[in-house]
Amino acid sequence: MRARFPLPPPPAAGPVLETTTARAAHVGPGGGVRRYLPHPKRRLIGAWCFVDHFGPAVVGETPLAVGPHPHMGLQTVTWLISGQILHRDSLGTEQRICAGEVNWMTAGRGISHAEDGLSPPGALLHGVQLWVALPEAARHMPPAFVHDPAPPRFAVEDAEVTLIAGRLGEHSGRVPTHSPLLGADLRLPRGGSATLPLDREDEHGVIVLEGSAELAGQPLAPGTLLYLGRQRASLSVSSAPGARLLLLGGRPLEEPVLVWWNWVFRDRAEIEQATVAWNTGGGGFGTVEGARGARIPAPAPPPAR
Ligand code: MN
Repeated sequence: MRARFPLPPPPAAGPVLETTTARAAHVGPGGGVRRYLPHPKRRLIGAWCFVDHFGPAVVGETPLAVGPHPHMGLQTVTWLISGQILHRDSLGTEQRICAGEVNWMTAGRGISHAEDGLSPPGALLHGVQLWVALPEAARHMPPAFVHDPAPPRFAVEDAEVTLIAGRLGEHSGRVPTHSPLLGADLRLPRGGSATLPLDREDEHGVIVLEGSAELAGQPLAPGTLLYLGRQRASLSVSSAPGARLLLLGGRPLEEPVLVWWNWVFRDRAEIEQATVAWNTGGGGFGTVEGARGARIPAPAPPPAR
């Protein structure tokens, strides 16, 4: 564990092509993932502060079972390409999460939830779990859960776009965001190319979910995050048939965001407080009924500097 919190690298002022390699991580039984953010060299892309890509993996005899655990200061966005997960939370939400649907959970001042795989053994589980850091004005808001069964879908030249979050060109997602944000699933089923409009004030990054592609002339395959910096009015994408990408972007969050375990805070004292609260059953995190997995205790905060 890290003994202190180094300052995150600042957003690039202009366009860059910076690559970082995902780390292997584990989430619950059978949950091997590629973790792109946070990364020592790049902590944030806009307000996106956590990017996990899981699968495609064949579901085994032991299904995914992430037991009750808390979140604070963030929103989670779950995007499945295949498979099904059952989400339960302390608000009483019980939502089947299916491919092509967007699910936003706002932790705000505190929520707890659990995720159980619903796919039978032999099925494929494939998707991404994303976190958005909430800005100061929103991070203490009440928790909420929003299910969007039909996010905006449109074509940009050869790319089929699903807008998971925020804005792309004249298109807007249905769920309002607390800072300017972009999350888009891009598919090029027949290959080809597309030029996507970007907001010059925002920073952007891309990962490949399936196949491989070229972004701004740079080849990219799964396992590498391509950070694009700012001051780009557009992004050119080209690929062979079957590529699938995730484009993330947003206005740089000029706040000292700390990501530790399932928390997004501003200082170490907040981590200590939340850790004690969760581990002693306090803090207003509520309870999650019916989860398959056991309640997950919070790890000790990192040693003070
Ligand atoms: Mn969670």
